[in-house]
Amino acid sequence: MNLGLYIHIPFCKQKCLYCDFPSYSHLESLYESYIDALCREITGQGVLFSSYQVDTIYIGGGTPSVLPAALLLKVIGALNKSFTITSDAEISMEANPGTVNHDMLTALRSHGVNRISFGVQSFSDTLLQEVGRIHTGDDGIHAVRTAQQAGFSNVNIDLMYGLPVQTLKDFQKSLRLAYELAIPHISVYGLKVEEETPFANRLASGKLILPSEEEEEAMYDETVEYLTLSGYQRYEISNYALPGFSCRHNLKYWNYSSYLGIGAAAHSFINGERLANTRDVRTYLKRVNSGQSPVEVKEIPDEPVQMAEFCFLGLRTAAGISNDTFYRFFGKSLQQMFGKPLASLEAKGLICMENQSVKLTPLGMKYGNSVFQAFLP
Ligand code: SF4
Repeated sequence: MNLGLYIHIPFCKQKCLYCDFPSYSHLESLYESYIDALCREITGQGVLFSSYQVDTIYIGGGTPSVLPAALLLKVIGALNKSFTITSDAEISMEANPGTVNHDMLTALRSHGVNRISFGVQSFSDTLLQEVGRIHTGDDGIHAVRTAQQAGFSNVNIDLMYGLPVQTLKDFQKSLRLAYELAIPHISVYGLKVEEETPFANRLASGKLILPSEEEEEAMYDETVEYLTLSGYQRYEISNYALPGFSCRHNLKYWNYSSYLGIGAAAHSFINGERLANTRDVRTYLKRVNSGQSPVEVKEIPDEPVQMAEFCFLGLRTAAGISNDTFYRFFGKSLQQMFGKPLASLEAKGLICMENQSVKLTPLGMKYGNSVFQAFLP
C-alpha cells in the first residue's frame, strides 16, 4: 500500500504578519533536540508502517531551510533508514528564499530531495516588507536560479495576491517574472486575514489597508488567464503546473489518500482516521523523549462528514470527483447522497457533470467556498 509522509519543521526566523501556521521564531536553541526527537518519531513510525511503500515525502513548516543542512540531512537519513521509499518517490522541501544557499541546495539535491518549494509571495521589496517577510525580491530570483543550478528541475514558488498596498500591476510583474524564470509549478493564494495574527489586529484598528474586492478579483482573473495562456494547467484551485509537474504529495490530500504526519503539529489521515500531534514544541519533545505518543487529537469522522470531505477536497482538483471512486469508498452513489445539492449547484453554473465525474466550472473555482458548503451535513 502507498503512503505519503509529511514532516513538520515548526521554526521560522521571524513570524510573517499574516501567518497563523504552527511555526515559531527564536527557538534556535531547540533545533538540535527537535531533530533528535523527530528522528525518534520517524524510527518508531517506520516500524508501525513497515508494510507501506512511501511514494511521496513533503518536508514543510514553518521554514525547513532555517535549519543547518546537516540537520536536514539527518532527517532524510532517518527517513531512508526507517521507511521503504519507492525509487521514483517525490521528495519535496519548503524553503524561504532568504535562508538557502548553493551548498545547502546541492546537498539536499544529492541526498534525494527532488522538488523545492519557495515561499516567494511577491518579487516586490515593498510588498514583502509590508507582510513581514525576511527576504527581498532579488532573494526570490536568486533562490530559484540557485536551485536550478543545484539540479532542481521541479521548483515551485508560492505567490500571493490581495496584499496591503498591492496593485494589479505589482501582481502582474510577479507572475511574469515567475514565468520568465521557467518555474514549472506556481501556487497562487489570496491573502486571508486570520484571527489572532498581527494583521487581524491592524484590520480591527483600521490600520490595514487592503485592495478592494474588485482589485482582488482582477488579480485572481489575471492569475487564471495569464498562467493558463502561458501553458500551465490549473490542476487545483490554487495550483498551476506545466505538464508532468503537479505535486503528487498534495494531490494525496485532495484525493482522500492516506498520509502520515510526523513532528509537532503534524496531521495524519490513515484509513479514515484523522490524527494531530501536539502543536507545542516543548510538549512534543517531552512526549517523544519519554516514549509517549505526541498525538493529541484522534477522531474517526462519521460517514456523512467523510462523504462531505471527500467531495469538497476532490472538487478542488480539475479532475473533480468520480462516481466510481465515491462508490468504491462509501458503497453508495453520489446521486443517492448528494442528488439535491448537485442539481442546485449545476443549475447555478458552479459545477458540471462530465463522463461520470463532477467538476467545478470556472465560476465554481472562483466561488469554491459556496460550493463546498453545499456538501456539509
Ligand atoms: S515563513 Fe511561512 S510559516 Fe513562517 S511565519 Fe512566514 S508564512 Fe508562516
